[in-house]
Amino acid sequence: MCGKDVEWSGNPFRPFCTERCKLTDLGKWAADEYRIAGGPLTDDADNQDDIEEV
Ligand SMILES: [Zn+2]
Repeated sequence: MCGKDVEWSGNPFRPFCTERCKLTDLGKWAADEYRIAGGPLTDDADNQDDIEEV
């Protein structure tokens, strides 16, 4: 993940090199999922039109 040269045998954090690297990668994955779930904010445009009418 980070390009470090790590001793794999006996490493409890495989497939990641360290616990820190594992948390970092999972964090990136969670951020991507959240961004996809959000989708385009088309509702905001509709709300702005309503405000202008008032
Ligand atoms: Zn790593």
